[in-house]
Amino acid sequence: MLEIRNLAKSFGGVKATNDVSLDFPDGSLTAVIGPNGAGKSTFFNLITGALRPDSGKVLLDGVDLAGRSPPEIVRHGIGRAFQVASIFKSLTVQETMLAAVSADQRTSAVLHKRFPLPETRDRAEHVMELLGLVSKRHRTAATLSHGDQKLLDIALALVLEPKVLLLDEPTAGMGPEERWRMIDKVRELWESQKITVVFIEHDMDIVFKIAPKIVVLCYGRILATGTPDEIRNNSAVVDAYLGT
Ligand code: ADP
Ligand code: MG
Repeated sequence: MLEIRNLAKSFGGVKATNDVSLDFPDGSLTAVIGPNGAGKSTFFNLITGALRPDSGKVLLDGVDLAGRSPPEIVRHGIGRAFQVASIFKSLTVQETMLAAVSADQRTSAVLHKRFPLPETRDRAEHVMELLGLVSKRHRTAATLSHGDQKLLDIALALVLEPKVLLLDEPTAGMGPEERWRMIDKVRELWESQKITVVFIEHDMDIVFKIAPKIVVLCYGRILATGTPDEIRNNSAVVDAYLGT
């Protein structure tokens, strides 16, 4: 279980994360919503080690990961979709997957042109199947559609077998159809992999449809948490975010 305790981070005078405490039980699916600048990305950055908290705890199965380095946090089982695909655009989907696993295993098979270990190949293969990338394995990331690049980013996080997967706006920049394809995939992964998923999403139709639990952030604080029905009918949330 992921337990966030009194997490805080300021930038100058701005309290981007202000005393946030939340529980994410194993196997839960949670959406994080809130206006622009509410502190959603900062919250994720504190959990993944991209930013160091001023105070507070990030407990995964009782181990406090707050302030540790991103690779260390990944190794403890917190994965996030990064825009890695866009960094290694000249590698194929398969090479990118193998590089991710190999880097994790500190064998750097791709760089040394060594034949990857069988279990490396199996893991990469399995995750490519999960994300529907098998038929695109020999394409370079640069030639993939925006949606497939995002799926590759998620694949790279998943191949390291996280307990918790954080997705910061997985549907950003997508048209309506691509958006639903992505979100169906996220839901399918959550159901089949039994991992804890936390995602940031702006599209309220998507959030209300697929997230059993919703956290609303506003000015760095938790404004509300609850089921879609509870959030829809919360007057503070309607005033601050959902509008009329
Ligand atoms: P959201 O993802 O909800 O839109 P962010 O977490 O990106 O919000 O930002 C929260 C607040 O923190 C904003 O006021 C933003 O300007 C500020 N902020 C975020 N990252 C930084 C940073 N690296 N340096 C300075 N201010 C930042
Ligand atoms: Mg953000």
